[in-house]
Amino acid sequence: MERVRLKIHGIVQGVGFRPFVHRLVKSSSLCGYIENTSSGVEMELEGERVRLERFIAELPEKAPKLAVIESVESVFSDELKGFDGFEIRTSKTEETRNTLISPDICICDDCLREMRDINDKRYRYPFINCTNCGPRFTIINDVPYDRAKTSMSAFPMCPDCDREYHDIENRRYHAQPDCCAECGPHVFYLDADGKAVKGDAIELARNEIKSGRIVCIKGLGGMHLACKCDGELIKELRRRKQRDEKPFAVMCRNAETAEKLCFVSADEKKVLEGFRRPIVLLKKRERNALSEISENGFVGVMLPYTPLHYLLFGDDINMLIMTSANLSDTPIMYKNAEALEKLHGIADGFLLHNRDIQTRCDDSLCWVLDKKEYFARRSRGYVPFPVSVDGISRGILACGAEQKASFCLSKGSYVFPSQHIGDLKNMETLENYSNQISHFQRLFDIKPEVIVCDMHPDYMSTEYASERSELENIPLVTVQHHHAHMASCMADNALDGEVIGLIWDGTGCGTDGTAWGGECLVGGYEGFERMGSIRPIPLIGGDRAVKESFRVAFALLKDSGCDVSGIENAEMLEKMLQSGLNCPLSSGMGRLFDGVAAILGIKTHCSYEGQGAVLLEAAASENVEEAFSYRFYGCPLCFDWREMIKELSESKAALSAKAAMFMNTLIDMAVSQCEYVREKTGLDRVVLSGGSFQNMYIMRRLPERLRQSGFKVYHHRRVSTNDEGLSLGQLMIANSTRHAR
Ligand code: ZN
Ligand code: FE
Repeated sequence: MERVRLKIHGIVQGVGFRPFVHRLVKSSSLCGYIENTSSGVEMELEGERVRLERFIAELPEKAPKLAVIESVESVFSDELKGFDGFEIRTSKTEETRNTLISPDICICDDCLREMRDINDKRYRYPFINCTNCGPRFTIINDVPYDRAKTSMSAFPMCPDCDREYHDIENRRYHAQPDCCAECGPHVFYLDADGKAVKGDAIELARNEIKSGRIVCIKGLGGMHLACKCDGELIKELRRRKQRDEKPFAVMCRNAETAEKLCFVSADEKKVLEGFRRPIVLLKKRERNALSEISENGFVGVMLPYTPLHYLLFGDDINMLIMTSANLSDTPIMYKNAEALEKLHGIADGFLLHNRDIQTRCDDSLCWVLDKKEYFARRSRGYVPFPVSVDGISRGILACGAEQKASFCLSKGSYVFPSQHIGDLKNMETLENYSNQISHFQRLFDIKPEVIVCDMHPDYMSTEYASERSELENIPLVTVQHHHAHMASCMADNALDGEVIGLIWDGTGCGTDGTAWGGECLVGGYEGFERMGSIRPIPLIGGDRAVKESFRVAFALLKDSGCDVSGIENAEMLEKMLQSGLNCPLSSGMGRLFDGVAAILGIKTHCSYEGQGAVLLEAAASENVEEAFSYRFYGCPLCFDWREMIKELSESKAALSAKAAMFMNTLIDMAVSQCEYVREKTGLDRVVLSGGSFQNMYIMRRLPERLRQSGFKVYHHRRVSTNDEGLSLGQLMIANSTRHAR
């Protein structure tokens, strides 16, 4: 007989870990206890040495699917304490919190079955959950994860639920959000004016939706606006939400329904149906179908993820528009009162409930690339799961970029990337950003010892960082935007040393004060060199050229010696260009896409970031191998696009061919740039990062072409490729800067 003390680190709270251990202890004929600590769980067991060892071996093999065991420390001793049976002790708060918190998880099959069983006590109960499913991150106030620290503290358990909660054989054993209709939260329906309507709330909402109304529905991390996928209705929704052209997401009854509209590969189906339930960007079966929902070649599809969603779909709804309830880029609404006030005149009704959302969390958004999520937005279902990184020892706060803001906080070997935050130019978003940083610091008990931000002096995140640095006397590191992108993709793939970075995005502040964004860098966390770029484009009228992309088209054509008479306001643009006033130079790949989309007549005025690029991608033929001509000049190796623009503007080929040939040219150019750099440096690893790599035409071709040329190619896998993923790179660079000091 021996005693063992086990310390387990990882995601082991709120995932059914203790009941699992209880059952395993019982079947192994051992005695002892387990308790949640702020660094995971701790237990002591007594029994025969062989049984103890078998238990330790079986622990990671048999653990619940949501549990992530990072490490198991075991200390054996001959001194017995004489435990009797097995006890689950109540949580204690330790001084050093290190607990990981589970993301929110979609309803499991067992709960779904019970909810549909007329004889079950939770028949049609919209808050049914168990140790394997339900809300987590979005209802937690503080750690350790216990009911008292969640939104469920307002709902004392009834004797029935209490019995289940304490019954080791029950699948709700120690499920913190466990409840039933007797004791738990409930849904209610309000009309357009916020007046309560009597009746079955879910049926009321279903009827309103079926008769063509727009209804606000409270989800896990915030409110949605839902309506039928009807052309006129979608136009009305766009009018009310003041959202002109940006695509909406849809929620489909199941993967089979989605398959009727979109191509769904086996890998995409897996991600769609997985327990994290992101919005998956699926290619439309017909390019021009569903154009009211999405003007480009993809539709964002998710499956129902809460019990309430399933009840809402019932037997007869197959697909709904499900768009975040927010106004002009402010954060997603998550409080009942706020929704009632701000959605007045927008929603025709409100399906709400009285379980508070503690933390906003938007739906995640991704493509499926190489069998895995490729994020445009990493949020619900993934956050606050950390990225583990070696070689970080202290707390660092990385403040991210601006339009797609995010932050990262590090602790030990973990980096915690935040959920989707949004555009910081917005006051409410900025406030949410700062609140979320505080929330993460508290949840994970992190006090930053270094703060890092972008080099751009006007980013709100830079302002936040320098203010805090000054106020709290914390050292501040500033990092070049594209260097951070490169470092982010390196960390994402656990790379060290030096790599080639192809960093393509809309814009970022360069070390020379001009806007960069079509970069070929060489370096690592410690530093970088700009080895290649693209010929700078004058942005006539500065920022206006981003939305009015015909201005970029003019600049491209003019510089390439082409006819510009077809461009609107050509004379005015000519004068501005000649005067050089307010014509900053940009080497942003996003700008080149915008300009070409405008030249091709695809889009001359953009209403959202990257619109020209997505529409150009959607317009491109899949079966064109040709490309246009181009040259390089100078050092750094500069991509001279003038020949390409000239050929493109004079080409008699179909639009779909021209769009493809443009992207093929970029691919050729990128491969040549990398080959040139390899010759100079001997490096053969290429990382791809930046918002322009949200282009699936390029992502399905460029990596393959680079591999054929002998390169090892890495794209993002755990954080977004756009600016949302930037903070991870900033953090890594700050970490290495500190070591160097
Ligand atoms: Zn109950
Ligand atoms: Fe960027």
